[in-house]
Amino acid sequence: MSNISSPSLKIRGPYDAKVCSCGLKAPLKASWTNLNPGRRFYGCAKFDGTSKNGHCNYFCWVDPSACLSKIEVGPFLNKKVKELQNEVTSMKRTARTFKIMLGVS
Ligand SMILES: [Zn+2]
Repeated sequence: MSNISSPSLKIRGPYDAKVCSCGLKAPLKASWTNLNPGRRFYGCAKFDGTSKNGHCNYFCWVDPSACLSKIEVGPFLNKKVKELQNEVTSMKRTARTFKIMLGVS
């Protein structure tokens, strides 16, 4: 005799519990990226830093208004991209200088 206690538990509209696309309750985790050190978020229960175990991409900051679609990273990323582009440009210039010095074209 099997003893399944919750045969048809379906959570719709996760107002309290955060449920990811796998249907699992999303655990509270802490972010340790440079961008958001110590910030807490709900993430897919299967997510462990690799993509090998088929987790979904569920992700939600603990702040109620900052779920996926509202994360404002655009301006920050644009700034970062500009910085990196400048860096690449100056590196290319340096490389060209070296090539000229070495007589390579
Ligand atoms: Zn998931």
